[in-house]
Amino acid sequence: MGKMQTVSILKNKLIILKRTVEDLDQQAKLIIRSDMKLKLYEQEIDDKMSKLSLIKNLIISSLHILDKDKLFFQINEKLVNDLGFKRSLLLDFNNLQPRVNIGFEKDEIQRVQNTLNHKREILRSNQLLDKNSEIYKQLFDALKTKDVLIAPIKIREQADSIFLVSNLILRTGIQKSEEEVFLIICMYLGQCLDNINLFEDLYHTKDNLEKKIKERTNELVKSLREIEVINKAKSDFISSVSHELRTPLTSVKGFSSLLVDEKFGKLPEKARERLMKIDDNVDKLMHIVNTLLDISRIESGKMEVKIAPFEITKIIKDLGDFLSPQLDAKKINLNLNLPGSLTVYMDKNLIERVLINLINNAIKFTPEEGSITVECKQQNSQAIVSVADTGYGISKEDLPKIFEEFYRVNNPAIRQIKGSGLGLSLVKRIIDTHKEKIWVESEVNKGTKFYFTLKVAENV
Ligand code: ADP
Repeated sequence: MGKMQTVSILKNKLIILKRTVEDLDQQAKLIIRSDMKLKLYEQEIDDKMSKLSLIKNLIISSLHILDKDKLFFQINEKLVNDLGFKRSLLLDFNNLQPRVNIGFEKDEIQRVQNTLNHKREILRSNQLLDKNSEIYKQLFDALKTKDVLIAPIKIREQADSIFLVSNLILRTGIQKSEEEVFLIICMYLGQCLDNINLFEDLYHTKDNLEKKIKERTNELVKSLREIEVINKAKSDFISSVSHELRTPLTSVKGFSSLLVDEKFGKLPEKARERLMKIDDNVDKLMHIVNTLLDISRIESGKMEVKIAPFEITKIIKDLGDFLSPQLDAKKINLNLNLPGSLTVYMDKNLIERVLINLINNAIKFTPEEGSITVECKQQNSQAIVSVADTGYGISKEDLPKIFEEFYRVNNPAIRQIKGSGLGLSLVKRIIDTHKEKIWVESEVNKGTKFYFTLKVAENV
């Protein structure tokens, strides 16, 4: 191969080599460009991640806050810096007074207030303040920076505060992501304030309700005390009147009995008849006075109540025998529906009086040839005793009042039946002292059934 030929081959190779180097340079530039883009994306993703974690942290730290000041305390330097800014201001929407101030001088705040005064209506929307608006330009001048974000914090549709951040940490200009995060924070704070208001409303309602309940309870306690005082005065009065009456009545009774028995000599028939009526009425009066005394003794706790186990079926059977003259006089049939035996806790004398009063009433308020059923049933640890009759019955209006002292039903059918209206009052008090219940069911012209409970004495 000649020299010339070798030179030409080398030249060609040089050209190819140059092209290859140029290609390599192009590719290297491409790689560098791609790498730079990748870094930018990476930065963007990092930025977005840090903003997301900023929102997450704010939510976590404020989720259970139920106090406005504590919520505003969450807007601190770290939050503002994480947002990418150095300074922040939170103003009350109505009076423009600062609620939060991070990094602003007094005169700067004054300038912001002056700028916003009379023009804050523009901030009623949910939007960021428009960068082209006049007020935005005035804010630039007031704060001597163009890096400002400002938006309202709204509770439902009401603007509550104005939130402002300014002075970017990095001189890159405000990014879209910063605007978005700022708006999300404004909306979130608005939601938190709404929750706080709801909680406060609820708290106040509860507070008011509790206050009202307390007031009413105090009123009730006061009324109760007054009633207790009146009741005590009434009991004292009845008790002293009964005592005062008992002595002369006993003496009248003594004399009337002696006169009726003609111990002072024979009496004309008419005089004897009248004296017998007097004697009879004195008996009734003594009965009333004694019942009144018993009621007042029970009420004042002066009556000795001896509760002990007693076999009740035997007591009921004996009472049936004891009352047979009255039953026979009206041809009333007495049915006893009793268990073989049942022992209950009671004061024997007092429960006997309850049964006598109830059966006597049943006899009184049942027309001739009617029937009375006394029943005693055990239900778990309770004995339920009932006295039912087939008599005149008691109307629905009268039923709640029959246990009151001196209450007698105003029914023409039974008007001639004598009574004091005290029997059931005593019965109720006796059952109350046993801490038991008494109630009544009745239907006019069908009959009445009284029930009361006693505690069963097991294994006695
Ligand atoms: P009274 O001395 O009048 O019987 P009570 O206190 O025993 O007083 O009874 C009050 C009123 O209840 C009676 O006047 C009567 O109107 C009504 N009453 C009570 N028991 C019966 C009953 N078994 N049947 C109908 N009415 C009754």
